[in-house]
Amino acid sequence: MMSCKDLARAIAAEETSGWRRWLAIRLHLLRCPACKEYVKQVHDLGDCVRNEACDSPEDAATLERLEEAIMGEIDRDGGAV
Ligand SMILES: [Zn+2]
Repeated sequence: MMSCKDLARAIAAEETSGWRRWLAIRLHLLRCPACKEYVKQVHDLGDCVRNEACDSPEDAATLERLEEAIMGEIDRDGGAV
């Protein structure tokens, strides 16, 4: 069975495609209420951010500038943390 840590990494990296990974995630979520709640909260947070960005064009522009700045930093540093 996929570990909680593996599931969290897959969700965070959006590595949920492929039927084997999808099945492993689904089976884990059936047995692990903590991860089920984690996935729900990640989805709720994404919905919240999307709704806030769509409600205000100014916020959407700010988010776009932030995304560009972050991507620029990643490109400059080569993704090093
Ligand atoms: Zn778990």
